[in-house]
Amino acid sequence: MSETRQFKAEVQKLLDLVINSLYSNKEIFLRELLSNASDAIDRARFESVKDSSLLEGVGDWKIKLTVDEDARTLTISDNGIGMSAEEVESNIGTIASSGTKAFLEHLSENKESLPPELIGQFGVGFYSSFMVADEVTVLTRRIGTKSGGVKWQSRGDGYYTLVPFDKPGTGTDVILHLKEDAEQYLEEWQLRKLVKKYSDFVEHPICMDIRREEYERYEEGKRIEGKEPKVTITEETLNSQKAIWQRKKDEVKEEEYAEFYRHVSHDFQEPFETIHWSVEGQVEFKALLYIPKKPLYDMFMPEQRDKGVQLYVHRVFITDKCEELVPPYLHFLRGVVDSSDLPLNVSREMLQEAKALRIIQKNLVKKVLDILSDMQEKAPERYQEFWTNFGATLKTGIHLDPTNSERIQKLMLFESTMTEEGKRTTLEDYVKRMPESQKEIYFITAENRAAAANAPQLEAFKSKGYEVLYMTDPVDEWIVQDIGKFEDKPLQSIIKGDIDLDTEEEKAEKGEKWKALEADNKDLLEKVREVLGDKVKEVRLSKRLTESACCLVNDEFGMTANMEKLMKAMNQDLPAAKRIFELNGEHPLIVSMRGMVGDKSKADTLADYIELLYGQACLTAQIPLDDPLSFSKKLSALMVDRKD
Ligand code: ADP
Repeated sequence: MSETRQFKAEVQKLLDLVINSLYSNKEIFLRELLSNASDAIDRARFESVKDSSLLEGVGDWKIKLTVDEDARTLTISDNGIGMSAEEVESNIGTIASSGTKAFLEHLSENKESLPPELIGQFGVGFYSSFMVADEVTVLTRRIGTKSGGVKWQSRGDGYYTLVPFDKPGTGTDVILHLKEDAEQYLEEWQLRKLVKKYSDFVEHPICMDIRREEYERYEEGKRIEGKEPKVTITEETLNSQKAIWQRKKDEVKEEEYAEFYRHVSHDFQEPFETIHWSVEGQVEFKALLYIPKKPLYDMFMPEQRDKGVQLYVHRVFITDKCEELVPPYLHFLRGVVDSSDLPLNVSREMLQEAKALRIIQKNLVKKVLDILSDMQEKAPERYQEFWTNFGATLKTGIHLDPTNSERIQKLMLFESTMTEEGKRTTLEDYVKRMPESQKEIYFITAENRAAAANAPQLEAFKSKGYEVLYMTDPVDEWIVQDIGKFEDKPLQSIIKGDIDLDTEEEKAEKGEKWKALEADNKDLLEKVREVLGDKVKEVRLSKRLTESACCLVNDEFGMTANMEKLMKAMNQDLPAAKRIFELNGEHPLIVSMRGMVGDKSKADTLADYIELLYGQACLTAQIPLDDPLSFSKKLSALMVDRKD
């Protein structure tokens, strides 16, 4: 057996990349090594099923962490399968899979663009030890051998040595000689933290000798100086080993689900809904997801904010920020997905990984939407509660995920002119209630229910008995555009375009009257145009008002006032939108103003009235006034002039 050997070129390349570009997340080395140790035990257990003589002298399956502060080493030992010299050579000296090569090329070409989480997500295997160690020693002896073993050693500089070594037991010790800046991995609390974070649910115990020093300072009430501390060393298991998602549903108690929920969500409440299922076939995975009772704000733990469902591979934590797993519109979910189809390590096909994740996501989305539809149907009150908390997030899926858009549309709830405050309707029920003469689904976008419910534009719809949906979530402005039609009925904003609710017969009937009204108001409309100038796009008589004197509306493609506000809130620079000013030709105020047109002595008063009328329309549409000072002056003057 020759002593010093050279790594295959691509291994050295991988090493360089691991050492240099993964710096930001180097703590994952422990996860990788613990996972290898756990795999080694699984394989030993598997082989010993066929040949129980292999178990002689092995004892209970165990992984052990040992710290030597003086030598500055951290050792990860397992009593698993171990490796022969040939296996060490082929497993650790080369990279077998072509996927790794492709990954390497991608890495070296896109070093800047590759986020560390991505690399972290797929792991870097054994080589990640060189992120924290300047020398790595592997002592290993295959299970079933009576003596012997090998010692592999490398400084990660292109060379390694491989020599025979008498290892007392079977299994593998990976000894990391820690770099100066990685000394923290000698500390008990650090190791505890990392085991909890990444490897808590590993099936085999991860143990460590914990040293406690107890000073006996008092004896019979008197203080004693200079006495040696009492040292006790106890072996503790650092991981809980309890992966409840791996268990059968009927074997898990409600309290256990709740306790695990609190663990993954940092929420102090019970979960709103627990979804536990497993999938076999094209991909295999187990999932335990939760819908929280309320959105989680994590005021005291801002770092929790963008954490979501945790991805595990073989019980080993990989990441909790994975958009390929849970799409953004289901970000309120918490829990775990554990797959045996995903590689922990880069040494397997990268492309396949992505594909498996896509299949998992598809399955997960379907499951959650199924649960929600079922709840909506069978427990509508409970569903309303869900919607109040997470509806605004869920409905962004209509925009983000066209394949599930229709399903999500059915899950949407809205308040409307026909619902009590706080109660909501689905689009399906809305359509069921539509009178035959109604051809479109009407809605109004506004900041809140009160603003929507008081909009003058609603008047004609109310008197016709047509229901109008209140869309009060900021995202609604975008989403209605994505929906377009529901059950073949177009969605129509009541504050946009030229609305005429009359049927053909009604139009014919009212035709003459309308013509007369237009003729009567022609001069007034002209005057209003003259006074308001380019503040408005158009001035016309309204068919949507029955009680109010006036309102502002958008043309079919114009931006609503609500949308404008949202865009401004996002710091978008916008030219002021011009709206259409509609007047109710039958309103007493308009009738009286009509009488003032042409009377020279009242010209100034009429101009003030027009300004005031316009200001009023702005206020009801929640559009800020251009000149609030002049508006209030005119209003005060009017009040002073009041003759009663
Ligand atoms: P991966 O685990 O993805 O295969 P690694 O680089 O982590 O990649 O390890 C390479 C190989 O080395 C493993 O597949 C395994 O055969 C072997 N190996 C690593 N650690 C151990 C161990 N503790 N015991 C036995 N074999 C091991």
